[in-house]
Amino acid sequence: MPQLGFGVWQIPDDEAFTAVSHALEAGYRSIDTAAIYGNEEGTGKALGASGIAREELFVTTKLWNSEQGYDSTLRAFDASLAKLGLEYVDLYLIHWPLPARDTYVDTYKAFEKIYSEGRAKAIGVSNFFPAHLERLLGETSVVPAVNQIELHPQLQQAESRAFHARHGIATEAWSPLGQGKGLLTDPTIVKIAEKHGRTPAQVVLRWHLQVGNVVIPKSATPSRIRENFDVFGFELDGEDLSAVAGLDSGTRLGPDPATFDVA
Ligand code: NAD
Repeated sequence: MPQLGFGVWQIPDDEAFTAVSHALEAGYRSIDTAAIYGNEEGTGKALGASGIAREELFVTTKLWNSEQGYDSTLRAFDASLAKLGLEYVDLYLIHWPLPARDTYVDTYKAFEKIYSEGRAKAIGVSNFFPAHLERLLGETSVVPAVNQIELHPQLQQAESRAFHARHGIATEAWSPLGQGKGLLTDPTIVKIAEKHGRTPAQVVLRWHLQVGNVVIPKSATPSRIRENFDVFGFELDGEDLSAVAGLDSGTRLGPDPATFDVA
């Protein structure tokens, strides 16, 4: 899986074609969408029109909450594939654990069937706490390839990252730029950016790459799409990394997976 991909949350379907086309032109090969984003069709059209060979692309989509359960998952997966216009996805994720509903184990068993058929080359989860993962590891057979969680310098998720590392699960960071809010004007980040002659967004993405996270920054602006991909020509040093480590305040921008439950 490419360590740097492109996320398309909040990009409307009719704009997804353009945004994903810009991303592919800039060099991204991994695209992260979800059924609930409502842009699988626009995303799929851009993938198809790009002329890039299918095996060079890495496409992730996610099962929405309303479709959890064995049979409904199988149906939802077919619908996502049809919208994307693909014969397989590279990664299929359970979007949220919804622990109070207690359906993620059955849902994951449907994921294992899809995986065994080769229609998802890898399966995983999103927003799972270590306790939810423990349960899956105990009751199902395919170790999730990925857990995609909210993660940025203000929410560094040490416990989850350590758990993932112990079990061979890749940590994928959503909202890696902290949604472009306060993080990109944080004086520590700005200072590191000035030191390297880079932008704050590039510094944050570089931090993710160096600590081993998979990242999927989102932008609909072509110049930012390119900027966010141009992070391989410099390196943060030890001093930079410890300064960023010091920004962890446990601040969540999104919902708490323990209680989040929206149909
Ligand atoms: P992000 O951290 O990628 O921030 C995106 C925002 O940052 C943009 O809308 C823009 O305002 C700003 N930005 C982007 N590039 C910039 C730059 N170079 N300079 C200045 N500002 C810039 O936030 P996100 O979109 O929430 O997360 C990225 C992706 O993660 C999503 O698109 C989606 O694919 C995924 N995601 C998954 C979940 C989940 O529950 N699994 C939840 C949220 C997001």
